[in-house]
Amino acid sequence: MSAQPIYLDYAATTPVDARVAALMAECLTAGDAFGNPSSAHPFGAAAAARVEHARAQVAVLLGADPAEIVFTSGATESNNLAVLGCARAAADRGRHVVSSRTEHKSVLDPCRQLGREGFSVTYLTPARDGRIGAAALAAALRRDTVLVSLMYANNETGVLEDVGALAAVCRERGVPLHSDCAQAAGKVALDVHALQLDFASLTAHKLYGPKGVGALYVRHGARALLQPLNFGGGQERALRPGTLPTHQIAGLGLACELAGAALAEESARLTALRERLWRGLAVLPGVHLNGAPAARVPGILNVSFEGVEGESLVAGLAGLALSTGAACSSDSPDPSYVLRALGRDTQLAQASLRLSLGRFTTAAEVDRALASVTAEVSRLRALSPAGAAAGGGWGDGPGTRLVSGEGGGPGRDTWVRFELLTSGDTVKEARFRVFGCPHTTDVVAWLCGQLRGRQRNALLPGAPAAWAAARAVPVEKLGRLLVVEDALRACLLHWA
Ligand SMILES: *Cc1c(COP(=O)(O)O)cnc(C)c1O
Repeated sequence: MSAQPIYLDYAATTPVDARVAALMAECLTAGDAFGNPSSAHPFGAAAAARVEHARAQVAVLLGADPAEIVFTSGATESNNLAVLGCARAAADRGRHVVSSRTEHKSVLDPCRQLGREGFSVTYLTPARDGRIGAAALAAALRRDTVLVSLMYANNETGVLEDVGALAAVCRERGVPLHSDCAQAAGKVALDVHALQLDFASLTAHKLYGPKGVGALYVRHGARALLQPLNFGGGQERALRPGTLPTHQIAGLGLACELAGAALAEESARLTALRERLWRGLAVLPGVHLNGAPAARVPGILNVSFEGVEGESLVAGLAGLALSTGAACSSDSPDPSYVLRALGRDTQLAQASLRLSLGRFTTAAEVDRALASVTAEVSRLRALSPAGAAAGGGWGDGPGTRLVSGEGGGPGRDTWVRFELLTSGDTVKEARFRVFGCPHTTDVVAWLCGQLRGRQRNALLPGAPAAWAAARAVPVEKLGRLLVVEDALRACLLHWA
């Protein structure tokens, strides 16, 4: 395994294209483009020309007119501006908004804020394939609905929504539609006019541009539907005032142009790599493709594994830089809300991997990733109490007896079994099977070492709190050690 992990997290962010970085540098230093684009002198005019060139490049990628592009700091800001800006501007006419449970947090959190401001929000639940569909949307619209916000491509599953059909429903009912297109722009053909979107968000760093810049498409005539979040110098039609960051915007523009030029070829190449990965994983039993059979963006593959604990799976894949539904890697204590909304149970949502491929992903990397995931899933399944039956290999010799005990169980977040080879009142050997987080596994393995030579009347080597201290187990995982203790106590019960 090479020192640097294989990068399979292009849906989280992408490296900046070298041509984009060079252009950005050109705009930063003393030269012809460092001026304030708002200034009336030639320095300002040169910077403004760069900005307007970039505006046209972004517009081409989206199928929009340049005048419909508002530069922002990224998709989070674009989503906030569209959701809060549109709802607040319409508050006198109605206070109902429709979105979905699988949106990015940068749509869900503004929606929650609207709730605090007296709006009611309907969060649609997608079908098992991850899509909402026009019928569900039509049923959710009310006379007081002032905004619908539904994403084009989901960032976890890659599922593509039929936004054209959603837009048709919205148009018929006279409700504006915003779509978070951060994962779609530059990945799939996008034509906001043909799709009849009112607002669309994108961000540069998902398409080989810099972090910290993005855009909101605002349909001609839809400017009046928006209230700004910030107030200042009137830039960007007063929707997003502030001195325009020429280098960021120029970088976004070129990144859009390059993504558009490479789109057909890249999408075919990445689709083939993604299918290669899936075909390899599908050989394993108990593997689920999340978002199937919906159409998905080329570069994202999201899979769940039965019989494997998510945190342990990720811990065993240190050679791969990827994202997971396991709670350990995110800010939230719950496994992926997106996969839960698709009807996956907690275990499958936990034991999920999002492998996202991009420009520098090779077939050799895909094959190495495939081999790592296959080996790790097999290893964890073999270690699980659900695996082979107890007793193998040790045999009950004369004078020895096999004693086992379990804690937790199938369907729980922890399942532990100790197997003790005893002679009279003494533990001769101890071994274990475990389904659990890496901390649980570590403590169980360590305890097996402690158990050897112990007497029945003093079997438990201290209490869970002491084990936690000895093995540096974080406090939120303490409950799992109680399950470990249960397994030891069950051994005692059977030994009696
Ligand atoms: C990355 C992403 C965002 C946030 O974009 P930033 O530019 O990082 O703020 C929003 N929505 C989706 C779907 C994304 O993938």
